[in-house]
Amino acid sequence: MRILYGVDIGGTDTKLGIVQEDGTILSDGSVPTDHGAGPEKLAARAADWFSRHAAGRASAAGVGCAGLVDAKGGMLFVSPNMPGWNDVPLAGIFSASLALPVRIENDVNAAAFGEFQRGAGRGVRNFICLTLGTGVGGGIVIDGKLYRGSNGFAGEIGHTVLIADGPRCACGSRGCLEALIGASAIIERARRIRLQAGETALDDIAEPSVKEIAHAARGGDAAALRVMEETGRYLGIGLSNLVHLFDPAAIAVGGGISNAGELILAPARAALSEHAMNERHARTRIVTAELGNKASFLGAALLAARDE
Ligand SMILES: [Zn+2]
Repeated sequence: MRILYGVDIGGTDTKLGIVQEDGTILSDGSVPTDHGAGPEKLAARAADWFSRHAAGRASAAGVGCAGLVDAKGGMLFVSPNMPGWNDVPLAGIFSASLALPVRIENDVNAAAFGEFQRGAGRGVRNFICLTLGTGVGGGIVIDGKLYRGSNGFAGEIGHTVLIADGPRCACGSRGCLEALIGASAIIERARRIRLQAGETALDDIAEPSVKEIAHAARGGDAAALRVMEETGRYLGIGLSNLVHLFDPAAIAVGGGISNAGELILAPARAALSEHAMNERHARTRIVTAELGNKASFLGAALLAARDE
């Protein structure tokens, strides 16, 4: 069976994995990204790691990276995690270091494909994966294939607009899904709800993180529950848009914020039901992603084995 290498370039660490073409992960680890030293240095560190951990010869490698990626041309145009990596021929750089054909992909697209093959999207043909964290990303699989759009930029679900005059988004627009359910939006919501609430567990923490808010909600704190409920409702409205557009069999929600699980997913499903054009639309399964931080390198590796 063919062996593939997968790379997921993160802001701090770059995850690496050696996988079989059936998606079995043989070995995985990480190296520091150190983006200031440039992509060539990172590619050399990755090549060194693979040479020390791989038993056999790989046939291709896939590299996932946040930002605007042209998978066909092998170019990374711009990345929020790697300031200064503008118009970088990332596929060529990794190909030179690894001495392999290399395919690059947006990291969330890669994660969606990984979940589709081996995680929460197993066994379906039409699938969407959302990642909730500081940013809100998305990847779309249509009829078994990753949908990239005409420029490779498809799947920016976090920047679909839910409220025309809503809160300002990092992208410059207003009322985007990301501006309503991204980490800073949840923290801002907690600040507002805390001011309105009477006594709340959130009072004990100066600047509660999403994790702390979820923890308080799990403990039954009414204010924290309201924060999660409101966040989940906006997520559900976003999901209803996706369901109406794509009619997927399943939508998986991953990323750090998805650790809140049913605290967010239950109100999201309720909002989806409420906004669905027909009750049949609300039957799309809304689930948590399964592969965590392995989804992206796995998906990148599996995409590298395909010519699509
Ligand atoms: Zn936006």
